[in-house]
Amino acid sequence: MFEKDATIGGCLTQKIPSWRLPREVALRDLSVIAALGIEVRTGVEVGRDIALSALREEFAAILLLPGFAGAQRLLSLLDGERPPRHRRLLAADPVTCETGLPGVFAGGDAVSGPATVISSLALGRRAAASAHRFLTGADPRAGALPALPSPLLWRLDIDEAERKRRERTPVMLQPFTPPLAEGEAVEEAKRCLDCSCGLCVKDCEFLASYCRSPKELARQVKTGVKDVLKMVYSCNICSLCAEVCPVDLDTGAMLLAARREAVRQGVGPLPAHKPIVSYYRAGVGATFTLAMSEPGRQRSKRLFFTGCSLPAVSPRNTLAVYDELRRNYPGTGVLMYCCGAPAELIGMEADFARTCQAIQENAERFGAEELIAACPDCAHTLKTGLPGMKVTTVWEALAGRWSPPALRAGARVAIHDSCKAHHEPAMHDGVRALVAGAGAVIEDVEYAREKARCCGSGGMIYPVDPKLSQRITQRRADESPLPMITYCAGCRSALASRGKETIHILDFLLHEGDIQAVARRKPTGSLARYANRLRTKWAFRRLQPTAAR
Ligand code: SF4
Ligand code: SF4
Repeated sequence: MFEKDATIGGCLTQKIPSWRLPREVALRDLSVIAALGIEVRTGVEVGRDIALSALREEFAAILLLPGFAGAQRLLSLLDGERPPRHRRLLAADPVTCETGLPGVFAGGDAVSGPATVISSLALGRRAAASAHRFLTGADPRAGALPALPSPLLWRLDIDEAERKRRERTPVMLQPFTPPLAEGEAVEEAKRCLDCSCGLCVKDCEFLASYCRSPKELARQVKTGVKDVLKMVYSCNICSLCAEVCPVDLDTGAMLLAARREAVRQGVGPLPAHKPIVSYYRAGVGATFTLAMSEPGRQRSKRLFFTGCSLPAVSPRNTLAVYDELRRNYPGTGVLMYCCGAPAELIGMEADFARTCQAIQENAERFGAEELIAACPDCAHTLKTGLPGMKVTTVWEALAGRWSPPALRAGARVAIHDSCKAHHEPAMHDGVRALVAGAGAVIEDVEYAREKARCCGSGGMIYPVDPKLSQRITQRRADESPLPMITYCAGCRSALASRGKETIHILDFLLHEGDIQAVARRKPTGSLARYANRLRTKWAFRRLQPTAAR
């Protein structure tokens, strides 16, 4: 055993005050180590006085138990390079506690983050049991305890000064403190985030179905995500709650983290998500994807990112908008690919990361620095997954440049803003400019722009709770008696499925026939959507026969 300090015991003997844990009790328990015949070398720090590689040569298995404070120091030894700044813990298998290096195990606060002494000891013991199985050649998972849940944190998106005012580290040095004066007690009580105003519940059909306050959901998730999967997968992840909450709590963000945790634990996504997973896999597979520079060029500074939905409902509109982009931005290429939203929204973070990587590589192949998305959902997802890439939408790129024929003189319409575009005022304005340019009169609904409500299909909830999804769609549809213009093909399908007169903006701007018939059109069926995607791909290929895939 190597110990960097002069005595063993770490925080048990050096940090925890003796009125909480009497030193003689801790020392008595620790004396078991010497009694077992274990050689203890104190004053030796791994990484400074002895290299991890040297330890690996000398010993058949290694347990790393450096405590929370020591984790950062050991990270670079395990990763072989400087770890990302946000990483502060050692990564270890949740069942075996084995690190990325065979035979090297880690446990305690260095893996879990600050925890109680009991849970740190339990995690150290789990690592030791795995090391024992490793040394005896047993199956490392045979007889192991079930995987540990990773800590789910619901981080308040508030400024640092406010956070510091609310959070306070308990002081353990004094066993007794005098009672608080009245004023101090009032101040102390103000630190509590009561989370019971109900503003978010009033505005959200999902919350109203499941709780009186999201803190109830937070408790359920914390207790065990596997027991509340239907609830976790029934939120639209639309962030309207964060818009109305006085302290910006985003319940959707918490439930998205819970979905990732469900996938890590092997209980998510749900069987009901199978068609979504298939749709996503098709969207990143060779059959339905395509990457090309503008015809006649090798490189393209920008790529028109079609996503899946627009090509699935209208190959003609997809090609028309590409023509317009080429006219305004010569050299624009095309990337027909799924943005990864389905994987991201059902918690499949590894798949989502791979999709982002593939999109990045395709962009680099053509020297593209910008993606122009056809859909606000794609734009939101691309911005999340590729923070270094410039991402915009067709509506922002073409506003003020494109003058489609004024086919809709005098038409009164409402706009359904996408909930994924809450913080995109340029997108809101761009869409309104194009619709007004077509001659229409816009009557905004109450829940517009940064307070837009979801169309009901967000968060992939339909297969999990179709009735809830339909209620949400109906509530949105009922916000205006006027036909609604959407700029997301998926939103159009959801609203049209409830019989709402809904028109995708490209149809509104370009369709020369009976627009009412278009508004009443049923959503495109599943098979037709796949066929349309192929048609779109072939149409692009006719423009650029050497397009990849
Ligand atoms: S999450 Fe925010 S809006 Fe909702 S009940 Fe809590 S404090 Fe109120
Ligand atoms: S993200 Fe949307 S659906 Fe989910 S709790 Fe918030 S408002 Fe409700």
